Amino acid sequence: MLNYEIMRLIDTIKIKNAVEKMCIEACCKISFDVIGCYDAALADESSPMGEEVLRQLIENAKIASTENIPACQDTGMSVVFADIGEEVSFTGMSITKAINDGIRDGYEKGFLRKSIVKHPLDRVNTGDNTPAVIYYDLLKGNKVKLTVMPKGFGSENMSALCMLKPSDGEKGIIDFVIDTIDKAGPNACPPLFVGIGLGGTADKAMLLAKRALLRKPGDRSSKKIDAKLERILINKANELGIGPAGLGGNTTVFDIFIESYPTHIAGLPVAVNISCHSLRHREIII
Ligand code: SF4
Repeated sequence: MLNYEIMRLIDTIKIKNAVEKMCIEACCKISFDVIGCYDAALADESSPMGEEVLRQLIENAKIASTENIPACQDTGMSVVFADIGEEVSFTGMSITKAINDGIRDGYEKGFLRKSIVKHPLDRVNTGDNTPAVIYYDLLKGNKVKLTVMPKGFGSENMSALCMLKPSDGEKGIIDFVIDTIDKAGPNACPPLFVGIGLGGTADKAMLLAKRALLRKPGDRSSKKIDAKLERILINKANELGIGPAGLGGNTTVFDIFIESYPTHIAGLPVAVNISCHSLRHREIII
């Protein structure tokens, strides 16, 4: 049972202001971790064309950060993870309105492209990049963790789900993931970061794959079985030779992250959520 005397009150204007700031920062300032991947790949890349693309990515990230302009024209659909402590109560507008207001103001003030249409068929732009795709999670404690991920669609469009048979096992997972990356080719703007969701239901697997993209580059899964599979997939994906911008080379992926969850005895869901080289997200704890 909740003890209302210990509930922490948060004014949702703080949420709105934080989201606004994170939208601009995520789009304009590629994180040091990600730039570190560009640098490391440049040192290893064997193809001259691949090297040139990586050099351009490094230069582009520098210019975007210095001039506070988006690193890519596709400033994405806003995906927001709101992890809310059970001892938090909100005052002011609803949290969903606060998040969407933050996105609207962030995209306006940051001169970020508005890319959202009202309906998948009528294609009329909403004009302010809302609504966001928001996932709420309840956790212990009295804090709110907000993560804003502007998700580009060149890579989102190449994402995929497969409901494998349990007997397909590790080989089935590897074949599906590598085939998905191969089909993405240059369209997903490689080198890629790839999130994999294993288990749960079809929808849970897709969400796990999206959440996997929040991991820090270079961090392997804490589950041995998943960490081993991540290493296998990274090596196999880089053997595809797609390379930076799809022009050939040995850097097709910067990293692959797996998040897994229990599943049904009759199924083996595998989801692949692809991010381009502009892996962008910001988080704040309030
Ligand atoms: S997929 Fe990424 S790099 Fe490609 S256009 Fe979209 S945001 Fe830009």
